[in-house]
Amino acid sequence: MLLKPRLKAALLAAASLSLLAASAPSPAAPLGIGDPLFPHLGNPGYDVQAYDLSFSYGGSNLDPLDAVTKIDAVATDSLDRVNLDFAQGEVRSVEVNGAKAAFASMGEDLIVTPARELPAGSRMRITVHHTSNPVPDKRYEGGWVRTGDGLVMANQADAAHLVFPCNDHPSDKAQFTFRVTAPREYTAVTNGLAAGRERSGSDTTWTYRTVHPMATELAQVAIGRSTVVHRKGPHGLPVRDVVPTEDRKLFERWLRKTPDQIAWMEQKVGRYPFEAYGVLIADAETGFELETQTLSLFERSLFTRNVFPEWYVDSIMVHELAHQWFGNSVSPRTWSDLWLNEGHASWYEALYADEKAGQPLEDRMRDAYRQSDSWRAMGGPPAAPKRPSHGQKISIFRPVVYDGSALVLYALRQEIGAKAFDRLERAWVASFADGVATTTDFVHLASRVAGRDLSGFFQGWLYGEKTPVMPGKPQWKANPVD
Ligand SMILES: [Zn+2]
Repeated sequence: MLLKPRLKAALLAAASLSLLAASAPSPAAPLGIGDPLFPHLGNPGYDVQAYDLSFSYGGSNLDPLDAVTKIDAVATDSLDRVNLDFAQGEVRSVEVNGAKAAFASMGEDLIVTPARELPAGSRMRITVHHTSNPVPDKRYEGGWVRTGDGLVMANQADAAHLVFPCNDHPSDKAQFTFRVTAPREYTAVTNGLAAGRERSGSDTTWTYRTVHPMATELAQVAIGRSTVVHRKGPHGLPVRDVVPTEDRKLFERWLRKTPDQIAWMEQKVGRYPFEAYGVLIADAETGFELETQTLSLFERSLFTRNVFPEWYVDSIMVHELAHQWFGNSVSPRTWSDLWLNEGHASWYEALYADEKAGQPLEDRMRDAYRQSDSWRAMGGPPAAPKRPSHGQKISIFRPVVYDGSALVLYALRQEIGAKAFDRLERAWVASFADGVATTTDFVHLASRVAGRDLSGFFQGWLYGEKTPVMPGKPQWKANPVD
């Protein structure tokens, strides 16, 4: 995700005012997997293998969609109840392995009680008939985003469960099938590759499947009066962009940059990790851009408002592209590992601006160093971020995880040298492709690649209240924290 400056400022203001801790769990609290930042999200006791999501869109983005969510999972414990994450929709029925199951909503969980206990190691299919409401509840943020001509999704950090029942945590990745039925004048595009399109009366049903596992936070379903523009990326990679039909020509000068940006990233870190890529341009003011897997979401105004220089917009495109490796193919084990996503995306964003537009990386890093102590005071150290402000889950996206964490990578490169750093980056995305990784995994791999124990180095850079001395640049100074 990349917040635009306007929203960043609002969130920072809110963060500095808010001293409230997140509300304490009630005794009947729904279950979670104990994520330090979002303790109630995700659920223990099972591992999802696949989601099959069906949505019926009637043509108004104010009306709830009819939806069916099928979840194939393996019980890792014996379960007499299964907690799913789900809020903001009406549940009509639930079946487990074909038999009707009792269900109740509690907090942001849908608690399913199957007719008989599920033994550890058994497979289960949970089918939920429900609605999916695109009109936001005041208590929540994220999920469906209403656009000028339909809907898109923005589920980061933990808002997929505002759209469909799921195990809403990036540590449980799964395959996805999407089936979207909409009036024939609409186009539906999701993550993955097209797997069929059927007309029935005045409706069309679009089917897509992912080839690689995906975290729920990265799901994308775009429904609009849009055109899909196809082109080829490096080594024949399918690139398909989704743009409002009336603006197709307007955006072409930006869209045609994508294949070269992919080639640039591949030169830095290795093969693009997925089956397709593309840019989804939404007629909506989200305040951020988002790396939904294989199809990154951008606001129309980023390209049309003419307030940002071209090199900056290019670098933002590369930021979301870099996330396909860092954050999507390699997912964070917990949300405290977010610096691995945003630090790397910011790093390649800055490096691209340096190499392609003469915006010196070193100047940007020296500036980040100046602010680093303040960022740490505000958001916590890079790998131990503070909890989100009350009611603002995306407030975990603070400067310390962006340039504050790109600065950690810069320090690492200073410490181990550019060659070892490049080897590490390639080894990281290759070793954990399609998987989940922790900060500790990164520290271990970096130590292995450098041929020496770097845990002391990382302790200060990732967990210190103050920014350590920059290797090779002891003259760099951090501004005092006010
Ligand atoms: Zn980002």
